[in-house]
Amino acid sequence: MIKFLDLQKINAQYGDELKAATSRVIDSGWYLLGNEVKSFETHLAKYVGVKHAIGVANGLDALRLIFKAYIEMGVIQEGDEVIVPANTYIASILAISDNRLKPLLVEPDINTYNLDISLVEKHITPRTKAILVVHLYGRVCWSEELEAIAKKYHLKVIEDSAQAIGAFYSNSLISTNILTKNRKTGSLGDAAGFSFYPGKNLGALGDSGAVTTNDDELATMVRALANYGSRHKYINEYQGLNSRMDEIQAAILDVKLRHTDSGNQRRREIADYYCNHIKNPNIFLPIVNCQLSTVNCHVWHIFVIRCSERDRLQQYMTDNGVQTLIHYPIPPHKQGAYATLNNMSFPVTEQIHSEVLSLPISPVMEMEEVKKICELINNWLKI
Ligand SMILES: *Cc1c(COP(=O)(O)O)cnc(C)c1O
Repeated sequence: MIKFLDLQKINAQYGDELKAATSRVIDSGWYLLGNEVKSFETHLAKYVGVKHAIGVANGLDALRLIFKAYIEMGVIQEGDEVIVPANTYIASILAISDNRLKPLLVEPDINTYNLDISLVEKHITPRTKAILVVHLYGRVCWSEELEAIAKKYHLKVIEDSAQAIGAFYSNSLISTNILTKNRKTGSLGDAAGFSFYPGKNLGALGDSGAVTTNDDELATMVRALANYGSRHKYINEYQGLNSRMDEIQAAILDVKLRHTDSGNQRRREIADYYCNHIKNPNIFLPIVNCQLSTVNCHVWHIFVIRCSERDRLQQYMTDNGVQTLIHYPIPPHKQGAYATLNNMSFPVTEQIHSEVLSLPISPVMEMEEVKKICELINNWLKI
């Protein structure tokens, strides 16, 4: 059977290093708020290209804490609105509603599956204070138009970078001076949340996340809020949370961060192969504007195809020994958790949720497996 994602195999690549890192922490006797987290934060900030990285307990908390910090700073007030794509994982929306802010759902672009930036401006009201962009499936959601809108309406732009570590935005793809123009996800907006859930492109061996930002005040506030609202032990200035990255996860992430770019590059090669070899008129492949070159803006956390007979295609793949998944089967506005949104209509989002299928993709897949998947899909007849 070809697994959707072989985490055992992914981590076995660095098994010795991970075991050494874990042992080091066990033997140190220091398990929280220590040097391992500091070291990982320094490396992550450098990798992303920002001044501050703050390790937190998970990706949802990273996003929650950003909004909570803006509220504490007086930048955003309870009841204010945040624009967010209707096509996202529910965590993006939870981070908003958990802070008693109002999510303003906006349709995605069917070609990118990301927020349709051309629709943003008409949704802005006097209470709109922020845009939460989601780099869904590992594809960057950014444009100069978005920057201009944020500036014009004084909106904070927050990135949900959970699926897109290492992806970057380049506003001049053909420039000869490319390296100076690339900006990584996590450094594009005012602040960003990362998730290191085990299945993400940079995955811990448990839950973990981080906030990145260039804003000194926000960084200090997020760090305090993640640690009981305290900057100095036993002095609590704010009503915070306990949301800390632990030393073992940090030590593991510090090892794996060094391999993130090579893992992403391997994903690109597989995505490229899929895009060039899947030829079936019933399948929509991802539309990519840049692929294998250094200006790649996509890190292929998930390789998503679309098919009007999705469920039958998935069954066929299962019958032939290939595990596939659906990201995601039910859009947030149709979930029981958001009953007040259930009557809203987002046709593009709903179409995406009813047609998408995610094929296996990971740095440890064998080329034989990738080929077999292409052949199977090419032999599938929609009856
Ligand atoms: C994984 C994910 C999150 C949440 O991360 P956790 O670490 O699981 O809390 C948020 N947003 C998106 C888009 C994700 O894929």
